[in-house]
Amino acid sequence: MDCVFCKIISGEIPSKKLYEDDLCCAFYDANPQAQTHFLVVPKTHISSVSEITEETAPLVAHIFAVIPQLCKKLGLSGYRIINNCGASAGQTVMHLHFHVLSGPTLGERLV
Ligand code: 5GP
Ligand code: ZN
Repeated sequence: MDCVFCKIISGEIPSKKLYEDDLCCAFYDANPQAQTHFLVVPKTHISSVSEITEETAPLVAHIFAVIPQLCKKLGLSGYRIINNCGASAGQTVMHLHFHVLSGPTLGERLV
């Protein structure tokens, strides 16, 4: 499958990996939008939040258990988790991913 994140997961495309387990992988965003900006993705290819099912939802729960552990490890006291779902909402890589951003320039609220 021609998917950038599947290729990052397999190691075909290099990345700055932060964490990996059987179910998910975290790596730094190539075009950071904050002092700290990493992505957490399931190892299984799910194209977006729209494709999450009862069967795959535990994967998302796992990712949300991993995120606070990683943030704790990085010493981040506050952070923003973003998901863009669908091209019209700004999703450019069609492999489910959660952005985690942290840094002093995050003061502006989007919602
Ligand atoms: P989206 O716009 O789909 O929510 O986010 C995709 C993110 O993936 C963008 O922030 C973009 O910078 C990042 N990205 C795209 N290609 C690569 C890549 O090859 N390596 C890494 N580390 N990040 C990537
Ligand atoms: Zn993929």
